[in-house]
Amino acid sequence: MEKMPVIQVFALGGTIAMTPCASSGVTPTLSAADLIRAVPDLMGMAEFHAETLVQKGSANLTFELISDLCRRAEASSAQAVIVTQGTDSMEETSFLASLLYKGDAPLVFTGAMRSSDQPGADGPANLLDAARVALSAPEGSVSLVMNAEVHDPWHVAKEHTSSLQAFISEHGPVGTVVEGGVIWRGAARTGLGYECERPAPVALVSAVLDDDGRQLDALPSLGYEAVVIEAYGAGHLSEIWADKAARLTEHMPVLLASRARAGRVFEQTYGYIGAEIDLIGRGLLPTGGMRGRKARLLLSLLLGAEKQNWKQVFTTIVKSV
Ligand code: ASP
Repeated sequence: MEKMPVIQVFALGGTIAMTPCASSGVTPTLSAADLIRAVPDLMGMAEFHAETLVQKGSANLTFELISDLCRRAEASSAQAVIVTQGTDSMEETSFLASLLYKGDAPLVFTGAMRSSDQPGADGPANLLDAARVALSAPEGSVSLVMNAEVHDPWHVAKEHTSSLQAFISEHGPVGTVVEGGVIWRGAARTGLGYECERPAPVALVSAVLDDDGRQLDALPSLGYEAVVIEAYGAGHLSEIWADKAARLTEHMPVLLASRARAGRVFEQTYGYIGAEIDLIGRGLLPTGGMRGRKARLLLSLLLGAEKQNWKQVFTTIVKSV
């Protein structure tokens, strides 16, 4: 008899693991083994190894935990690894994993928008799809699977609080699960295998109408080592914010991202004070097509790894996004 592949499942909590509790609402109680047991179709596909690392809402997940998860996945002898977790932070955790992971087994993140007690709970279908993707994804890849779509962690974002179609990739999904098979339409993201013991604290602030920018003034005294500013549109700030951001560059790296949902930060179009040409000329570093929260993680890792040439590495990476 042919030997079945082995899939390692690490569970971190989230709605996929949630059940109603006596006092109020749903909370994460299901283990990795419970999640696998709830999907009989998984049985013929692979041998599953289950481990529950934490049972938490995903806002509690940390850089350290994702780093530890990657090391465990790299050490596992399984052919593929699935991570189940909350959807709230999955666009960030899967992105971070794609920076840190250097294993061969494909790493696939999944979760659920509806808890196990709700009609139409999507956890079982997502886990089944994740297993299908895990067995067909390229070696060393990191992807996110939700609602029968495979997403590149670099481009995906949770765009809706409750829809099953909450996850949207700016350039569309890289794959789709159809009739039990996976149709790949784009390249899967390969883990970069960076190492970082101590991520640097990097703040993320968003520009908003008629604000005096006092957050920017406070940053140096708060211990932040860098800041990502989510500017208007293609990279635009008020004149007050522009002056404050420029002054901040004397203390720390200041990244220029956009608060818009999609599109690149410009570098050479608008010429007024506070627009991208002015800001870049005054030392802000544009994040290309990378969203602010992902640029924050990348910078945190590069500064934490004490890469002397962090600016060059950062610029090269974001140019391609
Ligand atoms: N609402 C969340 C979820 O979809 C809770 C969390 O992210 O843990 O799982």
